[in-house]
Amino acid sequence: MNAKIPFYEEYKDKIRCRVCPHNCIIDEDKFGICRVRTIKDSVPTAINYGEVTSIGIDPIEKKPLYHFRPSKNILSIGSFGCNMTCSFCQNHEISQGKPQTQYISIEKLIEIIPSVENNVGVAFTYNEPFMWYEYMYDSAKKIKENNPDTSVVVVTNGYINEEPLKKLLPYVDAMNIDLKGYTNRYYSNICGAKLEPVLETIKRCNNQCHIEITTLLVSEENDSLEEARQIAEFIASVNENIPLHLSRYFPRYKMENAATNVEKITNAQNEAKKYLKHVYVGNVQGVDNNTYCDNCNKLLIKRTGYSTEVFISGNKCEKCGEEINIIV
Ligand code: SF4
Repeated sequence: MNAKIPFYEEYKDKIRCRVCPHNCIIDEDKFGICRVRTIKDSVPTAINYGEVTSIGIDPIEKKPLYHFRPSKNILSIGSFGCNMTCSFCQNHEISQGKPQTQYISIEKLIEIIPSVENNVGVAFTYNEPFMWYEYMYDSAKKIKENNPDTSVVVVTNGYINEEPLKKLLPYVDAMNIDLKGYTNRYYSNICGAKLEPVLETIKRCNNQCHIEITTLLVSEENDSLEEARQIAEFIASVNENIPLHLSRYFPRYKMENAATNVEKITNAQNEAKKYLKHVYVGNVQGVDNNTYCDNCNKLLIKRTGYSTEVFISGNKCEKCGEEINIIV
């Protein structure tokens, strides 16, 4: 279904889309980089409103969110379109293509949420949710008006302009934001974007909702100790309590580099831990991904794969009283 783009300005006989930092100039029947925003019959239009490519139930740990409603499920939903072109994209069929969709109205979505067992709410994920902004915003607002206790989660690359982000944030409880690397070379060559807007998004979201950061460490591209230190130092300069997930890359889509060396990932984790309180490793078997109190080392959350045991009932360690950045 079509919906009017909420952020744009007239530009000669075209428009300049103001949703994300690409600020594409778009002509009638031509598309922006995301392939979802165009002009149709002189109306600036997004073509994926309510168009769902994937819907499923995931453990919230899979987003990944480790410090937000641990051990719960979340209804996860996505459309098509992305404003990045990552060579290693694991969802390239929906991010770069236009697969089959089913239309799900917001009313239907609100009906489905409580029918899912052990569910905390809805996650906009799979493709880039900000390329589904029109539907995500309307849904998040209605979901919160319907039941403020339903959690709204956004799993994003963080490449969004300030105005649309600020408009959405009052309706968002948690975000996982990719910080894909710490150089413009990487963002430009591998992802088709720039670093600075993502850093701005992380700063803007801190204290507005719960956030966690994910970095995929790609062999020979962004897996140096120095880059891990820069990433951790930046996050710590925003908030040292933000959990960081360092994830192992495997060859996929257009990227053929070998899988990332596990030792490099654990070294990066140890380096990042010098700056941040909670650093986890993803896509690696047999590592300790439990959460411990950073003051007394008490076990707070035990994780085996996606099976999770929670030993904390509020946001304070029950042994030493240390405040932990966890929403249970
Ligand atoms: S949302 Fe799409 S059309 Fe708009 S600026 Fe970003 S990539 Fe371009």
